[in-house]
Amino acid sequence: MENNLFDLDGGVEGRRERLDALEQQVSVCTKCDLSETRTNTVFGTGNPTSPLMLIGEGPGENEDATGLPFVGRAGKLLDDILAAVKLSRDDVYLTNLVKCRACVEEGGRWKNRPPRTAEVNACDPYLQAQLEAVKPAVILCLGGPAAKSIIDKNFRITKDRGEWHDVYGARTMATFHPAYVLRQRGDDLKETKRLVWRDIQAVRSEYDRALEKRG
Ligand code: SF4
Repeated sequence: MENNLFDLDGGVEGRRERLDALEQQVSVCTKCDLSETRTNTVFGTGNPTSPLMLIGEGPGENEDATGLPFVGRAGKLLDDILAAVKLSRDDVYLTNLVKCRACVEEGGRWKNRPPRTAEVNACDPYLQAQLEAVKPAVILCLGGPAAKSIIDKNFRITKDRGEWHDVYGARTMATFHPAYVLRQRGDDLKETKRLVWRDIQAVRSEYDRALEKRG
């Protein structure tokens, strides 16, 4: 990682330039095996000066095909969750722990798999540089793997979600990943949605507080 990605400071343009340079590096990265099976790298999108960064685990099939984070049904649900507190993707910065799809060939098809620790570690300097550039006041981890990596390796999403932590100088919380919500049925679905909606309202309050502080 070149130091200039960490040294630059400044306003919107400075942050955009910094993220653009980083995205360019990621697009040709071969630091881990995931580079061998990816179609596109999936860097991140959104507002580089947002007080809120959302961090998921990694791209899936749809994201790999488009180069964009959180597309398909889980992406639509994420949009709905944000819209419930009057936010859109343009108001937040959205990225993942790893920037390339983790997949395995089974029966002639490539299936998503969780990224390995070594792959998450190899990609972490890019996430750190994104955090340095965006400087979020609030971080929302989407799902257990992101929470384990960002908040605590012993994090249990069903027990520990919805609680605030201070990480990277930001108020940090985890909630369920939208794809997990979509896998629930019946009463479990209702309860999971209720908890996610509660979490996003708490995140919105912290977001407002961060905006107020900025003045
Ligand atoms: Fe590079 Fe990250 Fe992709 Fe691995 S996952 S090849 S470290 S960009």
